[in-house]
Amino acid sequence: RPLLAIETSCDDTACAILAYDGTILAEGVLSQNDHAILGGVVPEIAARAHLDALPALVQSVLDKAALTLQDIDTFAGTTGPGLIGGLIVGSSYAKGLALALGRPFIAVNHIEGHVLTARLPSLKADLQFPFLTMLVSGGHCQCISVEQTGQYVRLGGTIDDAAGEAFDKVAKMLGLGWPGGPALEKLAQEGRADAFALPRPLKGRDGCDFSFSGLKTAVSRLIEPLGSGALPRQFAADVAASFQQAVADVMADRAEHALAMAPNATALVVAGGVAANRTLRCALETVADRHGIPFIAPPLRLCTDNAVMIGWAALERLHAGEHPNEIDVAARPRWPLAERHPAHSPS
Ligand code: ATP
Ligand code: FE
Repeated sequence: RPLLAIETSCDDTACAILAYDGTILAEGVLSQNDHAILGGVVPEIAARAHLDALPALVQSVLDKAALTLQDIDTFAGTTGPGLIGGLIVGSSYAKGLALALGRPFIAVNHIEGHVLTARLPSLKADLQFPFLTMLVSGGHCQCISVEQTGQYVRLGGTIDDAAGEAFDKVAKMLGLGWPGGPALEKLAQEGRADAFALPRPLKGRDGCDFSFSGLKTAVSRLIEPLGSGALPRQFAADVAASFQQAVADVMADRAEHALAMAPNATALVVAGGVAANRTLRCALETVADRHGIPFIAPPLRLCTDNAVMIGWAALERLHAGEHPNEIDVAARPRWPLAERHPAHSPS
């Protein structure tokens, strides 16, 4: 009884087919490279690109799984949170297929997808509830205690930028391309993490909120005196390494606080594109070790935006005995994870 899922909440167009038990039968992601040229995501362009990409992407994923649409038992799509244009395009596409084939549609929260990914059977992590997830991506930065499928407690989040956003902005200041995170990490390898004393915003404070704007400002103050034009390579590498270390230190501190708030957590999990960062992974792993719990970082392709996580979040609800049919659930740009069932649009 395979399930087909579609994810279009930001700039990546993704489709995946999962068996009922969560086995990944096929998956595909198309990244919109145009954004690199434009230096960021342009919502209108992203929405059109999703529409252009979906028919061929869905067909190629079906082909890879050696299935046809008639074989699909359930459809799932991201209905929030995210860029509304893309959400409408992708979820409407999945709803259209569900309606045409007389199959149910499941409306999935994008964050819930990220948060539950680590429970995918193929990861063999045997992750049990409750666990703690640090979601660190370009658009999100939050600490979530995952109590059960559908039961999430947000322990804290960023009060300004998301972690990935901070990486991207600092990378831009250093004259690196977009997305900046990977380029910054690469450059940081040539730098000294203790070259500059950068602030650790909110470190030691109660709770587990994050803040990155002060850190960003501190970096811009370092760079400003050098005027415009290319920065000396060693200087840029030292700034990159120092910034990355500051982010990792803050994250470790916040994770420490989160574990104090959720003492029953069986594991510390990281999700989102920033999870690719090795310095950050190391810092979080050290925290988990200290608490005697495993540290789980899913493979990168499942940490960044993908449709496997959307399909798996839908399957977790089926496994819990739910039989949702949410064809009338409207896409919405904001959808707090604590709101389990999205508001139904007026019919
Ligand atoms: P969303 O927030 O909806 O998940 P997104 O596309 O912004 O969407 P992801 O694809 O999960 O997020 O992650 C992209 C972000 O991760 C970018 O901000 C990018 O700079 C950052 N990133 C990727 N690799 C690294 C790395 N090695 N070090 C630091 N940051 C990284
Ligand atoms: Fe995401």
